[in-house]
Amino acid sequence: MADCFNRFFKLVNYETRLTTGTDEHGLKIERAAKKNEKEPKEFVDELARKFINSWKELNIEYDDFIRTTEERHMNIAQDMWRRMEANGDIYLGKYEGLYCIDCEQYYPESELLEGMLCPIHNKKVETMSEETYFFRLSKYHDRLLKYIEENPGFIYPEVRRNEVLGFLHHNRLQDLSISRTSFSWGIPVPGNDKHVMYVWIDALTNYISSLGGIGTELFNKYWSNTVHLIGKDILRFHAIYWPCMLMSAGVALPKSIIVHGWWTISNKKISKSDPATKIDPVMLSKDITVDGLRYFLLKELTLGKDGDLDYENLISSINIGLANNLGNLVNRTIMMVQKYLNGCVPALDEDSTNEFDIEIKENAFTTADAVKKFMEEYNPSGAVNAIMNYCNLLNSYLDKTLPWQLAKQPDQVSRLEQIFSYLLEALRWVSNIGYPFFPEFARGIKEQLGIDEAFSWPVSFCLSERKVSKGAVLFKRIGKDEEIILIEKWTK
Ligand SMILES: [Zn+2]
Repeated sequence: MADCFNRFFKLVNYETRLTTGTDEHGLKIERAAKKNEKEPKEFVDELARKFINSWKELNIEYDDFIRTTEERHMNIAQDMWRRMEANGDIYLGKYEGLYCIDCEQYYPESELLEGMLCPIHNKKVETMSEETYFFRLSKYHDRLLKYIEENPGFIYPEVRRNEVLGFLHHNRLQDLSISRTSFSWGIPVPGNDKHVMYVWIDALTNYISSLGGIGTELFNKYWSNTVHLIGKDILRFHAIYWPCMLMSAGVALPKSIIVHGWWTISNKKISKSDPATKIDPVMLSKDITVDGLRYFLLKELTLGKDGDLDYENLISSINIGLANNLGNLVNRTIMMVQKYLNGCVPALDEDSTNEFDIEIKENAFTTADAVKKFMEEYNPSGAVNAIMNYCNLLNSYLDKTLPWQLAKQPDQVSRLEQIFSYLLEALRWVSNIGYPFFPEFARGIKEQLGIDEAFSWPVSFCLSERKVSKGAVLFKRIGKDEEIILIEKWTK
């Protein structure tokens, strides 16, 4: 989703910067490393490598991959601490509470599930007691509440914003324990080596360290327009702790926090203890193409809701959208241009007055506008559907204009040229508008159209000369037999 937003906003001429990375400190990591008989550093090196490789396989184009164990990050996290401390917001105290190691946070008993279980992980919390530094979170309660109320676009979608507002209305924020002495795998607290920083204080700062720190050139350029894209399980850290930390450090808040839901597998929550929910996105992408997987994920996840990945749905969705609708349209069009017009369509000087031609031209503009609007509302699913509707229209255009009948009539050559001129231009629009959603597919379309130019947001409907060439089939329909084999492989 982040890669899709990044490509889209680049396409409409924003200067963008996509950062991702790994959060590598904390007790959870220290314990996991021990369990695997590894040093924490060795363990996180492998972890980071896995993510980097996966993003490469999945065609995710980011500008920076930041690891919280990197020197450049640790310095900035300490800088952040010092700023909060200088503002009088950090003090030493003692804390005893119920701690979920997987969340890396204390819970009041009232928020736990029956049996003292973490509400996120369904796992028993542990009693921990330690000397700790506190952050005066309570001081920022009213300011944060006011900010969220006055800035409706700060937390998106609405349902998540209401969740945070509800929490702030019903609970008074308490000072937050932000250091640990019970383990050492973390960033040392400036001025007191006995303590390491609470992992969330450390991790959240990555958004700033990736820009080189407060006040740097990159920071000044990007910070005020920064959008955090997060999962719903880490909403509280991003929408409550982080803004308060920034207020304390005297830094403006990012523009928006966009919160996505979870994926379920055939309506089951993904869990290590349930083998039926085991999923390997890289393997999937090899079987159904990266763009096939990407198309499905973008289409099926609406912000504010969870998305469900059901394998039969997955295959039928890409068969319908990519093979039948878009892929077939491109194949048929190119084939007919080759067969009826020797692969060439001349430039047209005059606009057509045919109602069907006018319809696909006008809809190119309305589709582009709709896609833009959906994306500005962080709704890739709506955008994908708008593009697919346009492809449906183009398929029906062929059925309405019947080029295969006109091809039998020698006096209809110029009408044929007109039809394919409109259609090829419409496909150029589809490849440009569709680029954020299926980049390699879009590249394939452009190649077949004989267009040698960078992707750009289309602004005019140009009836230029075109020389098409048949390329590889864009997306091969997955047949019933193959489907059975694939699903068996994926669920093994
Ligand atoms: Zn938990």
